[in-house]
Amino acid sequence: MDYDFYSKSLVNWYKEHRRDLPWRRSSDPYIIWISEIILQQTRVAQGLDYFNRFIARFPDVRALATASEDEVLRYWQGLGYYSRARNLLEAARTICRDFGGIFPRTYNEVRSLKGIGDYTAAAIVSFAYDLPYPVLDGNVYRVLARLFALSTPIDSTRGKKEFAELAGLLLDKEHPGLHNQAIMELGALQCVPRQPDCSLCPLMDRCMAYAAGEVSVYPVKQQKLKTRPRYFHYLHIVCGNDTYIQRREGKDIWQGLYQLPLIETDAPTDFAKLQQTDAFRRLLPDCGRMEISVVLRDIKHVLSHQTLYASFYYIKVEREGKFLSEYLRIPLSCLENYAFPRLILRYFQATANC
Ligand code: SF4
Repeated sequence: MDYDFYSKSLVNWYKEHRRDLPWRRSSDPYIIWISEIILQQTRVAQGLDYFNRFIARFPDVRALATASEDEVLRYWQGLGYYSRARNLLEAARTICRDFGGIFPRTYNEVRSLKGIGDYTAAAIVSFAYDLPYPVLDGNVYRVLARLFALSTPIDSTRGKKEFAELAGLLLDKEHPGLHNQAIMELGALQCVPRQPDCSLCPLMDRCMAYAAGEVSVYPVKQQKLKTRPRYFHYLHIVCGNDTYIQRREGKDIWQGLYQLPLIETDAPTDFAKLQQTDAFRRLLPDCGRMEISVVLRDIKHVLSHQTLYASFYYIKVEREGKFLSEYLRIPLSCLENYAFPRLILRYFQATANC
């Protein structure tokens, strides 16, 4: 097969249509790494601001390695998938400790860093050093599945192997960085998940899915993600001009971020029932007179494997009870110094003028 044709067409198209993005103006592996991690689960439009702020504060690997986890999470606040930020920090510290602060140059060394998988390692070494490693992200899977009408599920072991081989065959070994960026950009801008306008595609004449009128069939997946519901009740407790927060620990979502005192129930629970629970009684037993209002009920917040239903209660207490002393007491005016998940930020925004 004439694989050269695909790469040439992709690169010609890319030169004309590519978006001008700040990380594309750099061959610094650190810059490319940060951008790739931000973009893993985030749209470019949203990620751009985060990228600019992150790079302004942490312009190189040493600046990142010497930051505190709290500060890095603050710069990540609202982006979701916070393990990405913690992994960035750990990897930056590894680079300083084991590589003398110089970003590693080989695929295997880059791949060995925390939070860097096959795709990200290939992206970094091909974009920064022009090493011949093909990238396979969701966009590339979609383009390849359609171009070659490949029906092997992309989330199966066999599918991963087949697509990796195909991506390797198509790769322009002379200009792997350019080739990889071109095929990713085609997936992002042209071969979009729903109803791509194939008449504008540089590969329309070679596209087997298009020829068969089956573009919407590809890519094929075998698994549907199962999500589980969780029921969160946040207590925004105010005593004088202070409020209470805690850092999330343990192996659960949002590790390292801050939250308001939280009670989780197994099923939907209204406030009358919540007040009867041991957790609620334990938290606020000796706080004097309380004024309680239900501010938001059953806000739906969808994560990759969980759907959260969150309610927020504003509780003004007369004095601090003994169990509240287990939480961090901070002035209300200092909330912005802590990193909170987007769900709680939504509550703060909704009540900012109340
Ligand atoms: S012709 Fe359509 S389906 Fe095929 S690669 Fe191009 S945009 Fe994707």
